[in-house]
Formats: sequence, structure tokens, C-alpha cells
Amino acid sequence: MLVTDGIHRIEGVKGANVYLVTGSQLLLIDTGFPGQEHRICNYLNSIGIEPTALKGIVLTHHDVDHVGSALRMQQLAKCSIYAHSLEIPYILGQVNRPGIKRWLPMATRLLYGKLISPTELHPLTGIEFEDWEIIHTPGHTPGHIILYRNGVAIVGDLFQGGEIRLAPSIFTWNTDKLRESAQTVIERPLRWILPGHGPATPASSHWLEKLQNSLRRISG
Ligand SMILES: [Zn+2]
Repeated sequence: MLVTDGIHRIEGVKGANVYLVTGSQLLLIDTGFPGQEHRICNYLNSIGIEPTALKGIVLTHHDVDHVGSALRMQQLAKCSIYAHSLEIPYILGQVNRPGIKRWLPMATRLLYGKLISPTELHPLTGIEFEDWEIIHTPGHTPGHIILYRNGVAIVGDLFQGGEIRLAPSIFTWNTDKLRESAQTVIERPLRWILPGHGPATPASSHWLEKLQNSLRRISG
């Protein structure tokens, strides 16, 4: 489904939302749970895009519902995978995910299959993609990033969609950092929030104010 500004949400994928960014470069943002590669490819084909046309796969963070199909998509698209340098050891499986997330790949294995980690990732430096700004937004995880272009923010698990709110604290690595990151993002001009969970949501002064107030309350 085309959401806005040449960005598609890929329908039918289990796990976090997967976005296709079109324009000067075709990028896939996140990949859902393991086993979703055929759904992603079917969607690409349905809009006339060969998987090999992808310039890269960008992972917002290391959670299994975002990185599950990254390796298979990389193999099918023959492109690079990018993530923040702080996330790479988790995504490669070199260190355990923090807290209860350590167990999530095992807990979701019965439903979606085994998580097979990619073997090679490129650290994001922010200059890879011509028109997108990569913003480091630690909090949900240490190396969480969002993508920002012209008022559109693809936010991973920084915010949830619909009634925009912070991601649940049980899954938060560092709540203070999450609030700081949220604050820096909502100070930017915003037209659309494209979250990892929940619907793509037009920015409205109503929820921006509400979120701003809740951030103030927590820090005050
Ligand atoms: Zn997450």
C-alpha cells in the first residue's frame, strides 16, 4: 500500500511493518519475522519491482520482528544490509540481546521459524542514502535509528502508530534515552509517522502536544 511520498507499507508481512522507499534509491526498511521474504518479494513484484533493484536493506534495530527475514532478503536482492554500529553485534548474533529480548528469537521460533543471523552488515554513517537522514535514537535499543526526509519519519519502535505513544517500557533498553530521543524527533517538522507497529499516522498537533506533555511530566 502506498502510504505517502513514494513510501509503501508492504502488506501481509508478519511482525513489524516493512516499508519500501522509492525514489532515487530503492530501500527496504526492516524485514518482519523470519520467513517473510516471499511475502515481501510478492509485493515488490506486484508493483513491478525486481528484488535485485533494491539498493539496500536498512534495519532500525535488532528485534527479531524487524530483522527476521534480513538474511534471506539480502540473498534474494543481492544487496547490503545496514544498521547502526551499536546494533550490529546483536544482529549478527555475536552477543545476546539485552533483557528478556534474549529469549524472543526462541519464543517466536515455533511460529515463524529459526532466526538465521546475517553474516555481514554495514554500519550506517548517515551518508549512504542521498535524500534520507539517519538519526540515532537510542532508548528502545542502544543503536536504534529512524529515517527522516521532508517531514516523513520512519520510526521503527521509537513510537507506536495510531494514537502516537512511546514503545512499551517492558521492551525498552533505556527509558531516559528513549524520552530524549522522542523529544529530539518531535522538535522537527513532521508530516507523517511511519511506525514499526500500528498504522502510518499523519502528524497532528493534537498528539504531538499530548506526547510533549507526557514527556514533560515524566522528566519534571
Ligand atoms: Zn523493537
